[in-house]
Amino acid sequence: KLASREFKHDDTIIDIGGIKVGEGNLTVMAGPCAVESLEQLMLSAEVVKNAGAQFLRGGAYKPRTSPYSFQGLEEKGLEMLAAAREKTGLKIVTEVVDVQSVPLVADYADVLQIGARNMQNFKLLKAVGRADKPVLLKRGMAATINEWLNAAEYIMNEGNYNVMFCERGIRTFEDYTRNTLDLSAVAVLKNLSHLPVIVDPSHGTGVWKLVRPMARAAVAGGADGLMIEVHPNPMEALSDGNQSLTPENFRSLMGEVTAVAALM
Ligand code: PEP
Ligand code: MN
Repeated sequence: KLASREFKHDDTIIDIGGIKVGEGNLTVMAGPCAVESLEQLMLSAEVVKNAGAQFLRGGAYKPRTSPYSFQGLEEKGLEMLAAAREKTGLKIVTEVVDVQSVPLVADYADVLQIGARNMQNFKLLKAVGRADKPVLLKRGMAATINEWLNAAEYIMNEGNYNVMFCERGIRTFEDYTRNTLDLSAVAVLKNLSHLPVIVDPSHGTGVWKLVRPMARAAVAGGADGLMIEVHPNPMEALSDGNQSLTPENFRSLMGEVTAVAALM
C-alpha cells in the first residue's frame, strides 16, 4: 500500500512553497474556524503570523451540523484567504466539500482540506487525488485507523502522494469533550505510515481551555504539526467560538509547543 512504511521506509517531507512539513520542524496551521469577513481574517492572519505559524486556516465552505448555521462565504471567502496570503506570506489551508468545487478551491489554496465528514467520500478523495495540491486528510469521527489509511490510498492511487493525516478526535461515550482526541493514533500512524501527521486539538476537545495542554501532548507524542482555531474575538465567532483561542492564548500556546518541540 502506498501510504505504508513497507512501500516507502523514510518519512515523507512535503514541500509547500518552501515550508517543509514532516522534516522535523513543527508546522502550525492556525486561524478562525470560518472566514467571516475580510477584517476578521486579516486580523487573524496577523496574529497567527506574528506568533510563528506558517499556515492560515479558515473555512470558506463550512460543513455544519445544522443547515441553519452559518454555511461560509464560499468563493468570496477564498478571495479573502488569497488576500491574506498576499499580505502575510502565510500558506493557505482550506476545506473543499464537494467534487465540483475542487478546481476552484485548488486555484486559491496551498493545501486542500478534507473534513472529517468527508473522509469516506470516495469520489471527493479521488478528485483531490487528481489535483496538484497537497491534501490534509482529517480523520472521520467514527473512522478506524485502518479506514483512515485506506482513505489516503484513494488519494494516492490517483497520483497525489502529498497527503497529511490530521487527527481531530473521534466519537466515544465521553461527552464532556466534543470528541475524544486520540493521540495514540499519532504513534500508530508514525509506525505504519511515512506520511506526516498533524493534530487538531481544537475540534479534538471542543473546549478552548483544553487546547493548550493537548497541543503540548501532541507535540511530545510525535506530531509533525498542529491545527489550531484562533479568533480575534471568540465570543463573537460565527462557528466554534467555544474551542477558539484568543490571540493572547495562541501566543502562549506557540511558546509552549516550541519549547516541547525543542526537546524532541
Ligand atoms: C474544520 O477544520 O474546519 C472542520 C470542520 O473540522 P472537522 O472536519 O475535523 O470537523
Ligand atoms: Mn471549526
